[in-house]
Amino acid sequence: MIVKELYPFMQIYAVIIGLVVGSFLNVIIYRVPNNKSIIKPRSRCNGCGKQIAWYDNIPVLSYIALLAKCRNCRSSISVRYPLVEFICGMMALMLLNIYGPSYEFLVVVLLCFMLIAITFIDVDHFVIPNEFIIFGFIISIIAHTFNLLPISIMDGIYGFLTFGGTLFIMGAMGTFVFKKEAMGFGDVKLGFVLGSFLGSELSLLALFLSFIFGGFMSLILLIAKEVSDDHMVPFGPAIAAGTLLTILTKTVGGGNHIINWYFTNMWNGEYFF
Ligand SMILES: [Zn+2]
Repeated sequence: MIVKELYPFMQIYAVIIGLVVGSFLNVIIYRVPNNKSIIKPRSRCNGCGKQIAWYDNIPVLSYIALLAKCRNCRSSISVRYPLVEFICGMMALMLLNIYGPSYEFLVVVLLCFMLIAITFIDVDHFVIPNEFIIFGFIISIIAHTFNLLPISIMDGIYGFLTFGGTLFIMGAMGTFVFKKEAMGFGDVKLGFVLGSFLGSELSLLALFLSFIFGGFMSLILLIAKEVSDDHMVPFGPAIAAGTLLTILTKTVGGGNHIINWYFTNMWNGEYFF
């Protein structure tokens, strides 16, 4: 066991790592859909093209210090950059608190960073790049090979079939009914990846939550007249949100708060017996 006194330092460390990863995710979100290298060149200002110095590239802090403006040309910097960094920092902290210092934490934190990147890319480009699907499967295979997850390989396969299979069937049915592609194949592939991490039970919860999030997002966009009735709404962010909420509601014992709540409140038989 890890000494309790070390825990605050681990939390601070998790936030810092999260912020730095968030800074790198900004690069990934911008470059991967455009098929640009994520390693070279160094980041440049979108306004004047000047390379950004390291001291102007410190997560969140540089944005505040520069008052959201480029040091060279004073063109404004999108609030999205510090926002992604902040989300990643908080995500790392929350996951450490929920999963503790464990291998499962490392796997889950990578998965969640991936989902954050996918969300922003899908909103921008209506696509989930294959790089993420491949990355996800590699992490999943490593995690299952070395038994880093609390679920068996068999349950991983059941989850794979539950999550991806359901999206595939729904997409196929939708295509048949509406005579046009109802669900992008990127969403289906993402479902397969996520299911392999979650197992069958949590896959069902994540699917259920995804549809609730997707419904609300469509409704809000329709009301805001952002989309017409026949326009596509990216479903990737809804899948990401449903999965993140599933991951963040884990109980200490390895169960899930939402599933527990559902079974204690809906099926305790109080109204029936
Ligand atoms: Zn500039």
